[in-house]
Amino acid sequence: MAISDQVIEQIRMSSDIVSVIGDYVPDLKKAGRNWKACCPFHTEKTPSFVVNPEKGIFKCFGCGVAGDVFKFVTLIENISWIEAVRKLAQKSGIVIEEDYSQKVSVSEKTKVFELLEFASKFYNKCFLESPFAKFARNYAVQRGITSQTIQKFMIGYAPKGKLLEFSKKKGYDYKVLLKSGLFTKTDSGIFEYMSDRFVFPIYDIQGRVIAFGGRTLGNSKAKYLNTPETIVYSKSSNLYGLFQALPEIKKNKSIILVEGYMDVVLSQQHGVYGAVAPLGTAFTWQQAKLINRYSENTVLLFDPDEAGRTATQRALEICAENDISVYTSSLPDDVDPDEYLLANGRENFYKLLDKNLKSAIKFMIDRVSAKYGTKTLQEKTKVVSDLLDFVAKNKNAIVQRDYIKQISQSLNLDEEVVWQEFKRKTIFKAEVVSNNIEDKKKINKISLEEQLIAILLYKDNRYLTEKLAKDFFTNANCITVYNMLLNNNTISVSEIMSKLDEKTAKWFSDIAIEDNREEIKVSEEEFSILCKDIEIKRLRARRKNLEKEVLLMTEGKKEMDIQKIKEYKELTKEIKGSGKK
Ligand SMILES: [Zn+2]
Repeated sequence: MAISDQVIEQIRMSSDIVSVIGDYVPDLKKAGRNWKACCPFHTEKTPSFVVNPEKGIFKCFGCGVAGDVFKFVTLIENISWIEAVRKLAQKSGIVIEEDYSQKVSVSEKTKVFELLEFASKFYNKCFLESPFAKFARNYAVQRGITSQTIQKFMIGYAPKGKLLEFSKKKGYDYKVLLKSGLFTKTDSGIFEYMSDRFVFPIYDIQGRVIAFGGRTLGNSKAKYLNTPETIVYSKSSNLYGLFQALPEIKKNKSIILVEGYMDVVLSQQHGVYGAVAPLGTAFTWQQAKLINRYSENTVLLFDPDEAGRTATQRALEICAENDISVYTSSLPDDVDPDEYLLANGRENFYKLLDKNLKSAIKFMIDRVSAKYGTKTLQEKTKVVSDLLDFVAKNKNAIVQRDYIKQISQSLNLDEEVVWQEFKRKTIFKAEVVSNNIEDKKKINKISLEEQLIAILLYKDNRYLTEKLAKDFFTNANCITVYNMLLNNNTISVSEIMSKLDEKTAKWFSDIAIEDNREEIKVSEEEFSILCKDIEIKRLRARRKNLEKEVLLMTEGKKEMDIQKIKEYKELTKEIKGSGKK
C-alpha cells in the first residue's frame, strides 16, 4: 500500500517527536535546545539519548541509534516502518486513503503472524473439542482454571503432528512454517515444538501472537518448552501476560512479576490483574524498561527457593542499573501464588504481600548477610563488599547515599567509613569510564565540510546552498545531503534523515544534533570564510600530494613533469595569497 510523500510529511508534522518519545521514555527531560534521557535501546547510567524537536530527530551518543519519529516507533514497538506510519497517523487523527489498486505482496512477517494466530486458534479448538485433549482438560480442571481464563489467554492443546497437517492444508509454504518457530527441520523430518503439550500463546503488547510456551503433561524431562526466537519474537523484550494485564496496569500503574505462565494465568484469574512473567529466561533490561514504561509500583514475587532468590537478585541488579525502583515480596515456603489465592483470597494475598514487602537494598542486605553471616569483622567485611557492588549499580547519588546509610545501620558500622570504602571501590571504575568518554568526543569532532552541511541544515541558511559550486564537496555523505538540499530548499532535517540508509543516517545524526550546538545563523561573510577554509584545506592536501612527487623529480628519482611542477608552484602561491600558512 503506497502512501504519498505528502501524507507522510503531514503525519510527521502532526506527530510531536518529544511527546511521542516521551510516551515510551518517561525520564525524557529538557536540556537546552534538546531533550535528554537514558537510552531505551541500551543500558546506560548517564543520559546520552538526545531528541531535537526543531529538527524532529533523535540520536543516542552511546549506541549510535538515530532517526526520525517513524524510526523511533519502528524500533521501540518492533514493527515495520509502514506500521509505524499508520500508528502515528491514527494517533493524530489523519486518515490514510488506502490505495487498493496497487497490490502489494504480503510480507513474510505478516504471513508468520497469520500462521501464529491460526495455530493459537487451532490449539484452543483442540483443547476444547479434541478427544486427544482429555488429559489436558483434566489438568486444567485440576489446577482450577475456569473456561473464562482459557479463553482470555487462549490456552490450548497441541495434538501430535496435527498442526503441520492443517497448516499445509491452509497453504502455508515450507519457508513460513520454519520462520514461525512452530516447526524445525530434523533428520527424521519436520518437528513440531508444541507436540502433545498444554499450550500458552505468547502475545506482544499489541495483542498479536508471537510465540508459544508449552507444558508437558507426561513425564518429559523438559517440563516447559518455548518456541524459539524468530523475526517476530524476541524473548528478552516481551513479558507473558502483559497484553492481558495492560488495561488494569494502565489504571493502577502497578505490576507483580511472578515466575511462570501458570502463576500469571491463575493470579489474574483470582483478581491479581497486574501479574506478568519473564519468558522462561532470566529477567532482562529490556523487560525492566518495558515494566517501567507502564508501572510505578512493581513487586517481584519469585518462588521462595534458592533459584527464586538468585533470580530476584539478578532482577534487582538489572533494575538498579536502569534506575528503576522495584520491591520484592514473598509467600510462605512451597506455596504457589494460585494456591495461596485459592485458600485465602485476593485481599489476604495483598495483605501478605504488603507485610513481606522489602526494598531492593533490604532484600540484598538480608540475602548477603545470610550468605556470609555478620558475627565477626571478617564476615561483615565480605557482606559490605558484596553490598557495595550492588550500591555501585545505582546511578543516583542520593540512592547510593541512602543505601550506604541502611547498610551501615544494619551492620552497626560507621556510615562515613562505609562511604569511604565505597568511594575507594568505585574510583577506579570511574576513571576508566571517563577515559572512554574523552575518546568518544575526539571521534565525534566533525570536519569543516560537515560543519558547512550543519550550517545549511538551518532553514535561515538554506539560500546559501545555491551559492556553492556543484562540485564543492568531496565527502560522499556531504554530497548526498547537499544534493537533497539543492533539490528541495524546504526539506526538513527529519525528512532527510528518513531518506538515508542506516549508516549514513548515523553519520548525519552526528552532524544534525551536535551536542549543545546553538542555532547557527551565519552571515554571508562568515559563510564565504568557511568555504574558503575548506577550499584552502583541499588545495593544501593536493599540494602535499604533489610535493612528494616533485621532491622525487628534483632528486632525479622520477621523470620531470613540467605540468605538475607548474601546478605545485601555483598551488603554493594560491595558499600563500590566502594569508594562511
Ligand atoms: Zn543507546
